[in-house]
Amino acid sequence: MSDDADHIAERKMQFLFALRSRGVTDKAVLTAMEKVDRGPFIRGYFTDRAYEDMPLPIACGQTISQPSVVGLMTQALKVSNRDKVLEVGTGSGYQAAILSQLARRVYTVDRHKRLVTDASEIFRALDLTNITAITADGSFGLPDQAPFDRIIVTAAAEDPPGPLLAQLKIGGIMVVPVGQSDAVQHLIRVTRSETGFEYDELRPVRFVPLVEGLGRDG
Ligand code: SAH
Repeated sequence: MSDDADHIAERKMQFLFALRSRGVTDKAVLTAMEKVDRGPFIRGYFTDRAYEDMPLPIACGQTISQPSVVGLMTQALKVSNRDKVLEVGTGSGYQAAILSQLARRVYTVDRHKRLVTDASEIFRALDLTNITAITADGSFGLPDQAPFDRIIVTAAAEDPPGPLLAQLKIGGIMVVPVGQSDAVQHLIRVTRSETGFEYDELRPVRFVPLVEGLGRDG
């Protein structure tokens, strides 16, 4: 192998090792994260840190989540290849790209048009044809495509938004960080049954807040 190829293989191994040591153990999730390169989703100054397990800044004052958090949330969502998934908070598009490897179809929405445009460009370049990115206020879900088998929210809400609960199929799962943006938030898994909703608290997390309305750029 050339030095370059050696270096890339080594970084990839460290990346996967960091994921496993932080509790990402699901084989399919690890395979998806091995396959989808995080590099293209990070534009600007931080590309050389793409394989470190840390959140990084992206456009519009937002952040791409820490890879281990992406892995843990994806794992908690228990996605199958028959599932139609809604993601609220496209950001860089990285989480949607990971979901696209596991789900039948992924709809992802962000309140910033610029983020949706940038992410769509990367999905096209990587030939991820089962993702549709839309500019919208995701607190209302995506009524046109509802109901969903799985919903993942990657911004913190004070409570799981009602419209999202309503757009979850019976037997469906939603993963959402809940709490005030400047305090400790908890990752919650909501499972919908015939009789109602069941809530599991998974772990403390830190996300940017879910904000109402569209961003000023769109
Ligand atoms: N999942 C992303 C990281 C998300 S950061 C990734 O993989 O990179 C949180 C995102 O949620 C931001 O891009 C922010 O614009 C978006 N957001 C916040 N409130 C929103 C809302 N009401 N509707 C849609 N998107 C929202």
